Parts: sequence; C-alpha cells; structure tokens
Amino acid sequence: MVERLREQGIRDEAVLAAMMRVPRHLFVDQGLAYSAYDDTPLPIGYQQTISQPYVVARMIEILRAGRELGRTLEVGAGCGYQAAVLSQIATEVFAVERIRPLLDLARENLRTLRLANVRLKYADGSLGLPEAAPFDTIIVAAGARELPASLKQQLAAGGRMLVPVGSGDQHLTLVERQGNVYRESRFEAVRFVPLLTGTE
Ligand code: SAH
Repeated sequence: MVERLREQGIRDEAVLAAMMRVPRHLFVDQGLAYSAYDDTPLPIGYQQTISQPYVVARMIEILRAGRELGRTLEVGAGCGYQAAVLSQIATEVFAVERIRPLLDLARENLRTLRLANVRLKYADGSLGLPEAAPFDTIIVAAGARELPASLKQQLAAGGRMLVPVGSGDQHLTLVERQGNVYRESRFEAVRFVPLLTGTE
C-alpha cells in the first residue's frame, strides 16, 4: 500500500511512515480484510465509510507541509483509522464522531493499538470541540457545503484546517490562519459522506 502511495505522488516520508505503522485491516470488518490495503473506501456500517488510503495520506501531507501537526482535531472519526495515522505524527489527537456505535467501534479499534495520545469524543463536530480548542490542525473527514465557521474560530494562530467543501462537487479546501486573516486555497476534487449536524 505504501509503495502505491509513493507512486501516486505522496512525498512526505513522515506521512508514509505513519501509514506503514497503522494496520488498516484492523479497522474494517473481518469479511473485508482481504480488501483492506486496496486504494478504496470501504463500508464501516451506518452508511459510512473508512476513507481511501490515498486521500488519508494526501490530506495529512497537505496539512503538514513541512511543519508539525501539533494539537489536532479530527471531525468524523468513523472507525478511527485516520485518527490512528494522525496519532503517529501529531502531539495530541482529538477525534469527534456523531454516531455513537461508530465511536464505540473507533474506541475498540484504537484500544487494540494502545495509542496514548488519541481522545475520542461523542459530539457534533461541525461545532468543533470548544473545550479543547485552539487547535494547530483541524481535519474534516466529511463533506461540508461551506467552511464551518466555528471550526475556523477554533484554529490557533498559524493553524491550518483542511475540509472537503462543496455542494455536488467537493474540493479539499485549506484554510491557514495568520492572526485574524484566513487564507483559503483549493486542492483536488474528492468525494466524502456529508458533514451532518447533531448526534445520533
Ligand atoms: N476518518 C474516518 C472516515 C469516516 S467517514 C476514517 O478514518 O476512515 C466520515 C465520518 O464523519 C462518519 O463516521 C460520520 O458519521 C462522521 N460525521 C459526519 N458529520 C459529523 C459531525 N458533524 N460531527 C462528527 N462526525 C461527523
């Protein structure tokens, strides 16, 4: 899988090493384990998916861009895979999920790996996680119609946030905070499940 990521253009060695260390098959249903290292999203139940490895690697690479991830918020923990990858290179990871059974699944998956720097929280992540803000990095694993304002406000000075944005076509959108100026840049097209509000 990591060789293929390299061929697909992922250059950040820290990201590649993190992807190497996290066994993706532990995060999918046993019946799908044979596909765990394919470059494809897979169902994790509740109409949600574990993200495609390339997209996980690419998003973290865009966010890193030669700096440390620091305190990181992930919105949409799903089965916990991306949180596990982030935990390899971030100081601390706060991962938020709005579907209770998925959060429980993530908790179980992450327990197996004994990751000490990941905290999971059952909440509507479109509101961020005010009690743990500000964050150096925010990564949103679900597609938003527009940039969620409360997430922008929870970025630390110099912080960076990456969100799939758009109605219909989604593009990875990077927001960099400098003081009170937010600079936006757009990267490739992606397809994520929708960012919803509330919890269930
Ligand atoms: N990060 C996961 C991908 C999960 S798919 C991985 O590593 O594979 C996206 C997840 O976002 C789903 O589990 C969905 O329930 C969750 N989600 C959608 N809207 C959300 C919200 N407002 N707050 C928290 N989680 C949300």
